[in-house]
Amino acid sequence: MVILKSPKEIEKIAASNRIVAKILKALEDEVAEGVTTAQLNDLAEKLARAHGGVPAFKGYRGFPFSLCTSVNCVVVHGFPNDTPLKEGDIVSLDFGILYDGYYGDAATTVAVGKPSPQADRLMAVTREALKKGIEQAKPGGRLTDISHAVQSHVEAHGFSVVRKFVGHGIGTKLHEDPQIPNFGKPGTGIRLKPGMTLAIEPMVNEGGHDVKILEDGWTAVTEDGALSAHFEHTIAITESGPRILSRLDGS
Ligand code: MG
Repeated sequence: MVILKSPKEIEKIAASNRIVAKILKALEDEVAEGVTTAQLNDLAEKLARAHGGVPAFKGYRGFPFSLCTSVNCVVVHGFPNDTPLKEGDIVSLDFGILYDGYYGDAATTVAVGKPSPQADRLMAVTREALKKGIEQAKPGGRLTDISHAVQSHVEAHGFSVVRKFVGHGIGTKLHEDPQIPNFGKPGTGIRLKPGMTLAIEPMVNEGGHDVKILEDGWTAVTEDGALSAHFEHTIAITESGPRILSRLDGS
């Protein structure tokens, strides 16, 4: 069941997501050659608590960390570790918090130093695909208008969208209905309405769309070992269209 939020609830979800946006920006600024993803995880956790929030992923279905750090061929749910980042890596940072009863969730992918032209293009196309998907999150549209907008942008650039993981509703739970695939025909699924709050999150692979899960039970990597990028925003559907909640004011 899709839960519609009141304007007051949307402001609470916005407050939570603003903190997530601030923390992701701080993490992004920290990414550099020699830094470890474990250090980023510790910083994320510390900043969440300093803002009065609780990291949302730690303990979620047994996930052992606060931050998902997915380097190069890791698609999502990578475990932070002590391996130093190196020049040219791309790392996805996915972070969520619970603040004042409501969840925030967002992700970005950043390069360590200067990425290869192909990695740079992959990140740009994924970021653009998120934007295209968000543009479809408006009253009167249908759920898979979002999915289709993401998929067609990605495939027009020769990349593929991951099928195994999807975006989701968000509110007093981290994952609510509806599930939001990043692929599919337009014009199907639920009708989009003001008051829906959605986490839209394309995961885009340089090669094929297949992924496999490592023995840790979480880390998803591309089957072919090619690169993967991931961007996510939490948005609210308003009468006048989508409002992005997980971005810094003015960005
Ligand atoms: Mg999410």
